[in-house]
Amino acid sequence: MKRIMVTGGAGFLGSHLCERLLSEGNEVLCVDNFFTGAKRNIAHLLSNPYFELIRHDVTFPLYVEVDEIYNLACPASPVHYQFDPVQTLKTSVHGAINVLGLAKRTKAKIFQASTSEVYGDPEVHPQPESYWGRVNPIGIRSCYDEGKRCAETLFSDYHRQHGVRIKIARIFNTYGPRMHPNDGRVVSNFIVQALRGEDITIYGEGQQTRSFCYVDDLVEGFVRLMGTSDDVTGPINLGNPGEFTMLQLAERVLALTGSSSKLVFRPLPQDDPKQRQPDITQAKAVLDWQPTIALDNGLEKTISYFDALLKEEPLV
Ligand code: NAD
Ligand code: UDP
Ligand code: UDP
Repeated sequence: MKRIMVTGGAGFLGSHLCERLLSEGNEVLCVDNFFTGAKRNIAHLLSNPYFELIRHDVTFPLYVEVDEIYNLACPASPVHYQFDPVQTLKTSVHGAINVLGLAKRTKAKIFQASTSEVYGDPEVHPQPESYWGRVNPIGIRSCYDEGKRCAETLFSDYHRQHGVRIKIARIFNTYGPRMHPNDGRVVSNFIVQALRGEDITIYGEGQQTRSFCYVDDLVEGFVRLMGTSDDVTGPINLGNPGEFTMLQLAERVLALTGSSSKLVFRPLPQDDPKQRQPDITQAKAVLDWQPTIALDNGLEKTISYFDALLKEEPLV
């Protein structure tokens, strides 16, 4: 039985990962400050004797004994990471230093949840890991993008300088049950708006693209990457290469919910990337991994989740 720490474990991705790791017979230590995470996401795990929850902010040191670490702590939605940009940077940078210090001391293997945002508003399409990106260092998205880039640097230097065993995954837009209903990301926004009969808010003209991966596919990729030999450090892209405009996404959500919500157009936020699609050649070759869940199937599962949630707790 391995002792595995998941920072950000009460969040959307973290809660699915904790579940998966427990189901494989591991002991899981969930570390979260509940900034964007929720007790609801992990309530069903609290009675499991192999699950432990610590309310803790990763920008402060933490001394525990573990075999593996998945570092997911960081708000992921632009609305949330821009709410307190300095705290977002501290979470990515000071948080990385603390978990890397912990990994160095305990000799734990450590996984970093990096992001396609390290590519910024890319001129290379689709994006391979070899692309260095096009990121504005002083814009409103920079606290997230540059924080995650700095975390990749810290991981790489702890690996080179201290021999820490690292695994960096660059995650592309992922969706599914347990996204926060007010999270502000496009999939949850469109579904909640459609289910409540509210207008669907398209930013800009809706021609920008994203590639959406269902959460179960992503978690499979996490576990495969962590299970590779120590020479595989990444960064490695994890995402679904299916690419859609925001208008196409809105159409799918309307069709699958049967909603008669209307589309409304709102200003495009500053530095919003125009296109994004993962090149997953490496993930296929090294992890024998590729997504299996098509957008419509994943959206159906996500819609069922939000439908039940909104009936249980209507949003005011
Ligand atoms: P989320 O907001 O649901 O989860 C983040 C979790 O981290 C929350 O539970 C939050 O409370 C916790 N957290 C935030 N700051 C913390 C701190 N200082 N100390 C301890 N806990 C803290 O978002 P998510 O989608 O589950 O994202 C998880 C990770 O994956 C993030 O690092 C994010 O950057 C990365 N990621 C996600 C996506 C995606 O599409 N979902 C894409 C790229 C990268
Ligand atoms: N750290 C931690 N838990 C540990 C070991 C280290 O939180 O089990 C933190 C510690 O606060 C330190 C940081 O990780 O500031 C980086 O650790 P490292 O050993 O690299 O640096 P140093 O302690 O030498 O400054
Ligand atoms: N978006 C949108 N309407 C919304 C929320 C987001 O059109 O209600 C757009 C947003 O401008 C971006 C895309 O959807 O182009 C994805 O946004 P999200 O916040 O989900 O993630 P990110 O921009 O970080 O990929």
